[in-house]
Amino acid sequence: MAQGHPVSIFTDIGGSMMPGITANQGCRMLKMKKHCQQCQAKTNETDLAFICSFECTFCSTCSDHHDFICPNCSGELLQRPRRTRTPLDVSLDQVKKKLFGQ
Ligand SMILES: [Zn+2]
Ligand SMILES: [Zn+2]
Repeated sequence: MAQGHPVSIFTDIGGSMMPGITANQGCRMLKMKKHCQQCQAKTNETDLAFICSFECTFCSTCSDHHDFICPNCSGELLQRPRRTRTPLDVSLDQVKKKLFGQ
């Protein structure tokens, strides 16, 4: 057996490469950061804020200043969807829909 064990490749993928997948049952939630990473302005869950794919979070002023390009990772900054309900609220709703259909 001159070749090594291919198994080691798969243990790498199953490990730290996929964080957060098993943390929540159901869909993974966005981290709603409460402050702009640049100027510390408040970006509460219901406030207008912009995020990149790595969830770097910026207020609208800073996002505009950076031409909506994340200064950390050079990714696009897009408007973060606002959260109007608590996660608990939503999961209760999902359970109700499963039990009663609609
Ligand atoms: Zn800011
Ligand atoms: Zn970023």
